[in-house]
Formats: sequence, structure tokens, C-alpha cells
Amino acid sequence: MSDVVVVGGGSIGLSIAWEIARRGADVTLVEQGRVGREASWAGAGFFPPGNLSNAASPHAQLRAFSHSLWADWTARLFEQTGIDNGYRVCGGLIVSFDASLADEIQQWRDEDVSVERVAPDAVRNLEPAVTADLCDAYVLPTLAQARNPRHLKAVRAACAAAGVKFLEGCPVTAWERSDGAILAAQTGHGRVPGKQFVIAAGAWSSMLLAVAGCPVTIEPVRGQIALLQLPRPLFRRVIEMGPRYLVPRPDGRVLIGSTEERVGFVKQNTVAGVNGLLEFATSLVPELAEAEVERCWSGLRPCPTRELPLIGRLPEAQNAVVATGHFRSGLQMSPGTAVLVSELLTGEKTSIDLLPFAPARS
Ligand SMILES: Cc1cc2nc3c(=O)[nH]c(=O)nc-3n(C[C@H](O)[C@H](O)[C@H](O)COP(=O)(O)OP(=O)(O)OC[C@H]3O[C@@H](n4cnc5c(N)ncnc54)[C@H](O)[C@@H]3O)c2cc1C
Repeated sequence: MSDVVVVGGGSIGLSIAWEIARRGADVTLVEQGRVGREASWAGAGFFPPGNLSNAASPHAQLRAFSHSLWADWTARLFEQTGIDNGYRVCGGLIVSFDASLADEIQQWRDEDVSVERVAPDAVRNLEPAVTADLCDAYVLPTLAQARNPRHLKAVRAACAAAGVKFLEGCPVTAWERSDGAILAAQTGHGRVPGKQFVIAAGAWSSMLLAVAGCPVTIEPVRGQIALLQLPRPLFRRVIEMGPRYLVPRPDGRVLIGSTEERVGFVKQNTVAGVNGLLEFATSLVPELAEAEVERCWSGLRPCPTRELPLIGRLPEAQNAVVATGHFRSGLQMSPGTAVLVSELLTGEKTSIDLLPFAPARS
């Protein structure tokens, strides 16, 4: 019997499996499809900064805590697997065609995160390819990015090196329960017993939570992405405008993201979705009109029916911990979530207060 059974092999489940295995636990990870192929693979992989000393809200604390771990995780993953996850501090440019950025910028200032206003006519000194038609622009120097598929590959390899057992193509369909505890996960390939369980099933978590007595549901929210290819990088910083953004890779590729669509478990690209992304991209960087469209994809973000992700023990199954509902920030928040869940599993005091994230709160 495993010490810990993790259900879900996205960035959250994989990171938890690695972290708890590093602490000496015997871990089995159960995945319905292939590890690291859902939202975590589909995401853009950019990470707004944080500052733990001044993070007022629980969400900002989790973001800041995770932010503080990324460089170290990257170094350890490289040391153990030889895989470079592409993590680098590239900086960000927050822009607007109207004067609507005041509230967003104030939040960064309240957190004491470095943010610098750039006069619209000076933006082209920083990023010459960006349109001159902007009304407002700010630089976030400590925004970072990583290559999701490479990161997932690295965490998977590190898990394997730490002895994590993988059961892929193995959906968990129900829980075997007794006296307020889970005894085993029931799967299409038999039962998987464990001492403790972690539910990290992303957008598919609702069914597993409901049968374990949790009042919160998780809705899938589709995000579409278009990937462009250029012979050389046109700009260096991630450019953000509201919920949409351009992420430049060092090899000249540019990710354009993303839509937010409540269409159930439908993962496809639509004409309207991709058109909207391409128009957005060329309105900010006109030269992108000449770029090659390499491919498009979409992923299903896990969106909870409340503001915060769920991280905590399930009230009706005390040996089960849930870690899901990270919506638009699950890659960024995966190292922090993994450390916090491991602290819960081992009975340590958690690095930040997890009460606001408790699954019992609706
Ligand atoms: C287009 C897009 C852009 C994004 N950009 C960013 C970004 O720039 N930065 C950022 O931090 N985040 C970003 N995100 C959000 C981020 O990708 C998600 O928050 C994160 O991937 C969630 O991770 P997860 O492990 O919870 O879910 P997933 O990666 O979806 O993993 C859940 C896994 O659980 C498995 N599973 C489900 N049910 C079962 C079951 N019953 N039995 C066994 N296995 C099961 C699934 O098959 C899946 O592999 C983006 C998302 C999208 C879609």
C-alpha cells in the first residue's frame, strides 16, 4: 500500500508527487490519460511576480510563495534530470489602449512589487516592435516564464527518480470509504489502496470531490492559444492586456493567449477564438501579421465556484487532501501548492495560512 496516492498528473499532481516523495513517502500517481497532457501542457507558462512580505490577500500569498520557489525548483530539476524547463525572468509589459490600468498597477504597488510607468511614446525605446498607439504602459521587471511541456517532462523524470509509481490510462471512478476515511481509489484497472490521498484532477475534479463530500464544484473554462513562428524574436517581454497576452520565446516563437470560454469539456479551436487572438496580436505588434501560424490548441482551466483554489483536507475524508481550482495560475502556483500539501500530509505547520483555501468553505 502506498503512503500517498495522488489522483491527476498535471502540474499540481506531479509537483505534489515529487515534493512528497522527496520527503521520503512511497507515492503512486494515478492518471486517467497521459501524464502532463491537459491544462498544464496547454498553458502559456508566464508567471506574474509576488512579494510574500507584503502580500495581503490569500491569493497573493500563494502566488508570492510559489514565486519564491521557482528558481530553486528549476535548478534542482536541472541538476536531477538534465532538463532545462526554460524558466527565466524576462519581464512584462502591461499595456492598454485606454486609461484603465490604475487599479491593476495600484495592486502591484500595494504589494511593493517593482512596477515602472513608461510614457507611451517611450515604449518603442524598450520594445521597438510594439505599436505606438498605446495610451498607458508599465514594466513589471520580475515577471518570469517557463516552457510548460519541458517543465512537466522534468518534474515527471524527477518523480520517477524519486521512486514515484505511475498508473496511466487509469481513471479513478469512485472512492472506497469507511469511517470518514478513504481506503482505496477505485479505477478501471482495480483498486489502488493508500494511507493518504490527494485529489489534483484539475477541471475534472468535481465528481471526485462530490463523492468525498465537498460542497465546491470545479468548472472547465476553455482557453485557446495560437502559436506563431518567426525567424528571430521581435520583442523580449511578455506583453499583457487584460486577460490576453503575447509570450515571446527566445527561439522566435510567440504564444498568443487566451480566450475564456465556458463550453463544458470541449477542447477545440474555433474560428472566432483564433481570429480574436490574431487580431489582438497584430494590434499590439503589427509585424506579427507576417509571422507563420505554426499551430493552435486549447486547454481546460479548473475554475472553482469561488475565488480561491481549494487546498486542504476534505471534511468528510480526513485522510484526503484536495489541491485544485487554480484556474489561470496553476502552473505558477504548482511549487507552492506542492510544498503546502506536503506540509499538510506530514502534519507540519504550513508555510502560509491555508484556512481561506479550505475545501469546506463555499
Ligand atoms: C490556454 C491556457 C493558458 C494558461 N496560461 C497559464 C499561465 O501562463 N500561467 C499559469 O500559471 N497557468 C496558466 N494556465 C492555467 C494552468 O494551466 C492551470 O491552472 C493548471 O494547468 C492546472 O493544473 P492541474 O494539474 O490542476 O490540471 P491539469 O493539468 O488539467 O491536470 C489534471 C489531470 O488530472 C487528470 N484526471 C482528471 N480526472 C481524473 C480521474 N478521475 N482519474 C485520474 N486522473 C484524472 C487529467 O487527465 C489531467 O491530466 C493556463 C491554462 C490555459 C488553458
